[in-house]
Amino acid sequence: MSEFSARVESISISGIREVFEAAGEDAINLGLGQPDFPAPDHARQAAVDAIQAGEADAYTSNRGIQPLREAIADKHARDQNVAVDPDDVIATAGGSEALHLALEAHVDAGEEVIFPDPGFVSYDALTKVAGGTPKPVPLRDDLTLDPAAVEEAITDDTAVFVVNSPGNPTGAVSPEEDIREFARIADEHDVVCVSDEVYEPFVFEGEHHSPMTYADTDSVVTVNGCSKTYSMTGWRLGWVTASSRRVERMLRVHQYVQACASAPAQYAAEAALTGPQDVVDEMRATFEERRNLLLDRFEEMGVEVPTPKGAFYAMPKVPDGFVDACIDRGVVVVPGDAFGDHGAGHARISYANDTETLREALDVMESVVTDLR
Ligand code: PLP
Repeated sequence: MSEFSARVESISISGIREVFEAAGEDAINLGLGQPDFPAPDHARQAAVDAIQAGEADAYTSNRGIQPLREAIADKHARDQNVAVDPDDVIATAGGSEALHLALEAHVDAGEEVIFPDPGFVSYDALTKVAGGTPKPVPLRDDLTLDPAAVEEAITDDTAVFVVNSPGNPTGAVSPEEDIREFARIADEHDVVCVSDEVYEPFVFEGEHHSPMTYADTDSVVTVNGCSKTYSMTGWRLGWVTASSRRVERMLRVHQYVQACASAPAQYAAEAALTGPQDVVDEMRATFEERRNLLLDRFEEMGVEVPTPKGAFYAMPKVPDGFVDACIDRGVVVVPGDAFGDHGAGHARISYANDTETLREALDVMESVVTDLR
């Protein structure tokens, strides 16, 4: 008998953390996946009010407080054009727990999970934690996930495919025709589409589309949350939306590992979802300006970068030694292969950083590119 489970031994601490640790304390950090904005005041206040009124002391229902789940259902009606029963939503400890529940509930030992490569680091790790087999699918040159590649990768052993638009680490946004294709694939094959939409509002060109809008209600599990949309990463509040029978299975896991999402965070999330959305519009506009700055500067440097249409990341193609040289000169960026084998030769740059700092970092990157040529 081995001391640790084979499942946990198959995963390791994320490569992103290693990069942070290699950098000095006053380094410019373009490795972070969190917006550089405060959480909305009204969200903070709602948590304070709930705490002071003694409403946040006890466990909530496993699914989460009713007004929050109603707010999420209203959001789906408004943004996805889908009528969702508030009981078909579970408030979770961030999108991370939502992804964990989705995979735990649907993946058996040895079953495959298809996800983008490069893709968010949790897809590979949580697949392994669930006992499944990761099946990364390389992205197109523009870093979007190709529905044809997903359909081709499906076998009798495939349990889930993950779609992530806007994408981390790519900033790529899947066009409507691709999202419709993912919905069709989920409907036609006996495979669940897990759609990770945590960057939903940050789309600069075109619109965000969700598989749930186009698929049978039972084909798609949708993951979202407050971390990115409302700059509330520390609050740990996300959610998962699916058909009743899928929610019931995910709830079985959630009730044992989590009981319920943090009560103060649930009140804050309800206020964030139902309050003014101008904070979100402001973030989107700011990210777009920075994205444009970044694209202009990379063009001047002669660095190729697929135009990111959303989120707050760019994934330029970089010369060998780029990431280490940036870190040596005080700028942290993440090597693309931290997100999968096909991320090699790229770096992920998060522009969730103030514009002046971003300019400074771009000067450093320019000097690195010049020296490496
Ligand atoms: N999904 C994607 C694509 C992400 O980039 C992240 C965080 O970086 C998450 C999910 C999880 O976020 P959280 O657990 O903070 O909601």
